[in-house]
Amino acid sequence: MVMVKRKTVKKRALVTGAGGFIGHHLVKFLKKKGYWVRGVDIKFPEYEESAADEFEILDLRRSDDSLQATRNIDEVYALAADMGGMGYITGHDALIFHNNSLININTIEAARINGVKKYLFSSSGCVYPAHKQDTPNIKPLKEIDAYPANPADGGYSWEKLFTERLCLYYREAYGMDTKIVRFHNVFGPLGTWDGGREKAPAAVCRKVALAKMQGRNEIEIWGDGKQTRSFCYIDDCVEGIYRLMSSKFNDPLNLGQDRMISINELVEIVSKIAGVKLKIKHITGPLGVRGRNSDNSLLRKVLKWEPRISLEEGLTRTFNWIEDQIQNSQA
Ligand code: NAD
Repeated sequence: MVMVKRKTVKKRALVTGAGGFIGHHLVKFLKKKGYWVRGVDIKFPEYEESAADEFEILDLRRSDDSLQATRNIDEVYALAADMGGMGYITGHDALIFHNNSLININTIEAARINGVKKYLFSSSGCVYPAHKQDTPNIKPLKEIDAYPANPADGGYSWEKLFTERLCLYYREAYGMDTKIVRFHNVFGPLGTWDGGREKAPAAVCRKVALAKMQGRNEIEIWGDGKQTRSFCYIDDCVEGIYRLMSSKFNDPLNLGQDRMISINELVEIVSKIAGVKLKIKHITGPLGVRGRNSDNSLLRKVLKWEPRISLEEGLTRTFNWIEDQIQNSQA
């Protein structure tokens, strides 16, 4: 009897935004799962070389670049976006809506032309209406709360809702297996920590680390610090993305932690990790909504799983990495 050894064909994934925070981690995760991965971005990852089999510098606002990015691909993970923390997305509405809608219209259409079967779009907890997030102690947000639509964070959030619709229509019209994930404040090592696009956890870690190094006992925080959020560690985020892509679920799904804390509490936790006692000086700055938390009931039901890395554990890893970055940049 002749034994025929069957060659396993690797699934081919495209990760857009692979030079960015979540995309870079997702490329590593998919490689470990045995995928062949193409990363695409307008820049290379800043802090570490990409694990992608192929990394192409392409601008997805261009349709020809999107066609090149999606050739010979089974699954697209659409993470590319013009984005940043509140300091960036406040006041750049036109630019962000323009850039992100072009990126998403081109990428999904190119994926259709190239016969891509599965497509995941990275939406955000910012799609939820302003009036459901106007006090620090808000009710966790369920996926259905997004409508009637009145997102709080301007052009960035409206574009997310717009592309969620686009995914729905591509599924209905062309049978593309689209997934929509709404991230809630993802953080971790290898993410932007300075320069103006960083988000709250990285900014707080940087401020605390700098105060510790310089022997100062005070840091500045935008607003009264009573605004609340939930924060999800990056390893949980990429695990959730993978689980959603492997599921049969197509409607929008929250992916975040459901432990809500204030920014003042975030500072307290990071200070404890750093081993310092700090006073907070509250200054004026862009704040975003007053409160936001993820309702994870649907996530638990659909994926039989939810994020499990504690905030303290995630922040310890992130603080240590940012402290190293500062020390290296000053050396
Ligand atoms: P990021 O800014 O680190 O990564 C986005 C990447 O997209 C960047 O590397 C950027 O260069 C790239 N990009 C921008 N314009 C491009 C273009 N024209 N062509 C190709 N690439 C382009 O952001 P992230 O935190 O990794 O976020 C990934 C996705 O998740 C984004 O869609 C973001 O809106 C969404 N999201 C993130 C969070 C979070 O907490 N990090 C929360 C909600 C939603």
